[in-house]
Amino acid sequence: MRAAQISRPNGPFEIVEREIPEPGPGTIRIKVQACGVCHSDSVTKEGGFPWIQYPRVPGHEALGLVDSVGPNVHRWIPGQRVGVGWNGGYCGYCDACRRGNFFACQTSTRITGITSDGGYADYMIADASAVALVPEGLSAVEGAPLMCAGVTTFNCLRNSGARPGDVVGVLGLGGLGHLGVQYAAKMGFRTVAIARGGEEESLASKLGAQYYINNQVQDAAVELRKLGGAKVILATAPNAEAMSAVIGGLGVNGTLMIIGVGGPISVAPFQLIEGSLSVKGWYSGTSIDSQDTLSFSVLSGVRSMNEALPLERAAEAYDRMMSGKARFRVVLTTGN
Ligand SMILES: [Zn+2]
Ligand SMILES: [Zn+2]
Repeated sequence: MRAAQISRPNGPFEIVEREIPEPGPGTIRIKVQACGVCHSDSVTKEGGFPWIQYPRVPGHEALGLVDSVGPNVHRWIPGQRVGVGWNGGYCGYCDACRRGNFFACQTSTRITGITSDGGYADYMIADASAVALVPEGLSAVEGAPLMCAGVTTFNCLRNSGARPGDVVGVLGLGGLGHLGVQYAAKMGFRTVAIARGGEEESLASKLGAQYYINNQVQDAAVELRKLGGAKVILATAPNAEAMSAVIGGLGVNGTLMIIGVGGPISVAPFQLIEGSLSVKGWYSGTSIDSQDTLSFSVLSGVRSMNEALPLERAAEAYDRMMSGKARFRVVLTTGN
């Protein structure tokens, strides 16, 4: 099989031939059809975690067919269409899992494409607990980016405390933001897209936003307060300054939900106290959250806008993603 691997931190992508891996107990072999290229793949590419073992195949937006099932795997059978995201599985018996916080499993940190080889390959092995069922109605290319960018925005919004009719801001209109705006609109929120520049306004409206704030020339906090203040602001842009600047646009009991990774943000304690505001991070989700994301996307018509490239062009795909110029997600296809 072909795989696009990284042999050392900051090393180049190498297209190599490998033996097709055998699934061990509790794991599944997936014949990959498509895999999204996510900014977090830079952790593997650039050695973001010192303990990563190389060579490593990145990719945590993988979608394909169950090809073979290891011992002690229930429910999954060859031929099913499945996807795998950032969460690489969980034990089910540690204290965090027993409390239902599967994402925070204490027995091991399992991250697809980081602690094990991911989807930049013809085949990959996934823990059975990490696998989501993919519904009919989504092609492999359509479904792949929903396994990280999709579930992160969808699962954050549905757990944000916002209710239909509430004002919800989405800060940033990139890979995450263009999905966040669509999900927010389909969930029935008064959706406000906040991005830099005037040229994104028509896109925001096409994605379902009722309002657009150009934070290059407008004070986003002031504009949000004119709408009564946001119940939730989904912070997708990896821009600490922009995040800090929108906190003043939260309404009473409002929450800034952070999913974009930027530098330290600043907020005055009194600002939080005065409006009982919260600043909260959100972990993407586990496999069942991904499955819900895929189902909701079929139900509501939410789709990622993608640029597809074949697996052999992984290096180019990665550079394209890192350039910030992709509209909006880059997806590798295997032809399988
Ligand atoms: Zn990701
Ligand atoms: Zn656990």
